Amino acid sequence: MTRRNRSGQEGFHARQQTFSFLGGQESPPLVSPPREPEMPAGADAPGRADESPASPGERSWAAARLTEGFEADRSRAATPEVWPLDGGILAEGDAFLQELEAAADLEELGRVARECRRCPLREGCRGVVFGEGDPRAFMMFVGEGPGQTEDEMGRPFVGRAGQLLDRWIALLGLKRHQVYIANVVKCRPPGNRTPLTEEMRACWPILRHQLRLIRPRILVCLGSPALQALVHPGARITRLRGNWLERGDIRIMGTFHPAAVLRDPTKERAVHEDLRRLRAEYLRIAPRGGG
Ligand code: SF4
Repeated sequence: MTRRNRSGQEGFHARQQTFSFLGGQESPPLVSPPREPEMPAGADAPGRADESPASPGERSWAAARLTEGFEADRSRAATPEVWPLDGGILAEGDAFLQELEAAADLEELGRVARECRRCPLREGCRGVVFGEGDPRAFMMFVGEGPGQTEDEMGRPFVGRAGQLLDRWIALLGLKRHQVYIANVVKCRPPGNRTPLTEEMRACWPILRHQLRLIRPRILVCLGSPALQALVHPGARITRLRGNWLERGDIRIMGTFHPAAVLRDPTKERAVHEDLRRLRAEYLRIAPRGGG
């Protein structure tokens, strides 16, 4: 059930105007139908390893965190103190981590991160792909790791999957420079394989500090690894995509990674459904004229 107070309704309509201005186009229906606050079971084709039925624990964990209403009276998010990958990474006296933590802005953080050699992924790639976009972005997209084109160009999501992501961002009525785009791991895994948990843990301090500096209000997890880094170590995109979750003041939604949609275009319909929900939320809580 959606919970909105009077000011929320007024704010929503104000955002509708802003959105048309930003996108320069007529808005299709802005509010997607409410969804049941449970993980969608069996939403996709059978046969994948991560499509076994959700355990009762997983189900109750997710149900407790799924929300439809959100009283957005603050313009920026307070980032949570605890994230799934925090455990065991902050060794006292680790000079590199201290340098990361001390970075006052994204530029400085990027400079420190590009020197990183905390995991073996750095040996097999050309360089660290830090991320890019509006340093005060209201909406942030997080994928799993750079691919070949990203590694070559030093920028996230610039290959075929990136072009598809650009189209999705345009469907939100936004431009790429108005959001922030990053990955869980900043160096390309060999053969574009899924990053290992220990690689995600090694790289997590960089993304964590990116989140602290950007303070997005809406976080879009592209694929299971991003959900696992930002929501829960056992999270799976096939179970949680399209549902709103929260961490601190951040609204989080998972959807399929563009590369997964390129491999299986039937998934794009679900992504468009998720984009409608993202757009509605963006219009509801984004500051006037904000990106
Ligand atoms: S993947 Fe992350 S932790 Fe590993 S070397 Fe690259 S920047 Fe450092």
